[in-house]
Amino acid sequence: MTPPLVAAPPASPVPAEPALRHAHGRGRPCVITRRACFSASHRYWLPELSPEQNAARFGSCSLAPGHGHNYELIVAMGGPLDADGMVLNLSDVKHAIREQVTGQLDFRFINEAWPEFDLSQPGGVLPTTEALTLAIWRRLHPHLPLMGLRLYETDKLWADVLGDSMEAFLTIKTHFAAAHRLARPELSSEENDAIYGKCARPHGHGHNYMLEVTVRGAIDPRTGMVCDLAALQALVDDLVVEPFDHTFLNKDVAHFASTVPTAENIALHIADLLGAPIAGIGASLHKVRLQESPNNAAEVFAEVPALGVQPQALEALASA
Ligand SMILES: [Zn+2]
Ligand SMILES: [Zn+2]
Repeated sequence: MTPPLVAAPPASPVPAEPALRHAHGRGRPCVITRRACFSASHRYWLPELSPEQNAARFGSCSLAPGHGHNYELIVAMGGPLDADGMVLNLSDVKHAIREQVTGQLDFRFINEAWPEFDLSQPGGVLPTTEALTLAIWRRLHPHLPLMGLRLYETDKLWADVLGDSMEAFLTIKTHFAAAHRLARPELSSEENDAIYGKCARPHGHGHNYMLEVTVRGAIDPRTGMVCDLAALQALVDDLVVEPFDHTFLNKDVAHFASTVPTAENIALHIADLLGAPIAGIGASLHKVRLQESPNNAAEVFAEVPALGVQPQALEALASA
């Protein structure tokens, strides 16, 4: 049979638009985030340790009567839209967060505000960032469809929790300044110019690199830590910041004598340097994020070589 020369008219009237289109997205899934802030104090002090041991273990965090932070909490929630076009009414979300968390912690001494941090009890845990994030998860979970929580203790330290388990992600942020030149020595200067542009100029240029290192691990039921924070900071300082800061990477860091120090290669090298030592302090290196300028960054997921398999809720939190 010969095909018609013009498109045949539809056999039936134009099908109705999908019903969902007229129901304000009802039933379609979406992730929403809500931010909330509170100020609170805490102290790291285990009664089973001597004053000297507490001081050695927790440094100035052990000083009486404690010290405080302006915490910032990001709550990621997911679910289908209701008939009003919302996952949840935001006023209900605000109310739940205030009722269950900020109203109880704001301007309080965390060690005494919540019984889970009563260290005189054997089940008490130190109110670290990650232990506090998990405690907040357990209090919010009955009220909100949580997908992930992020708690910033400062802009240089935060924790993520993605479920009611002892597992948490802890991120520390630091920076270093370094110069580099992007050029492959086996290529001509014209070829390098064509690939790397101004970055191939012979005497190099510099950046203030911002570095985020995320580790994953189980929260210790007593210290509240996925790993010793001071030890983690010392590893990043000793293995990355100190050897990289105020250097010309191509000449001063041996690895970059033969590897072009792009942001990607620097992030990969940092992941290679940190992986085993972080395993040595009981955590897993999850992610290295290297921000080279306000306009570009490189991320390496150290546990998952294939892209696209990182926990989805972390992405929701990252964009909060
Ligand atoms: Zn603190
Ligand atoms: Zn550059």
